[in-house]
Amino acid sequence: MIRSYYIDYPQEHIEGQAHRYRCVFCKLETTAINGHLDGHAATCTYRKQMEKEGFECLQSDAVTPMKEADDYD
Ligand SMILES: [Zn+2]
Repeated sequence: MIRSYYIDYPQEHIEGQAHRYRCVFCKLETTAINGHLDGHAATCTYRKQMEKEGFECLQSDAVTPMKEADDYD
């Protein structure tokens, strides 16, 4: 099971930093995580939970759909 973006992790507001949020588990900023599972720390509870459920650390640009016409020029 592969998803391109992981944005359903619990977030918390960074105190004193307007409009900035971070993962409640690994404390990395949402802008650093950028929707990628491997944007979380390796020790992040959310990341470990997702990996346990079978999700993979794949960035969206690593997912290349199969092309039938490989002679496309
Ligand atoms: Zn995290």
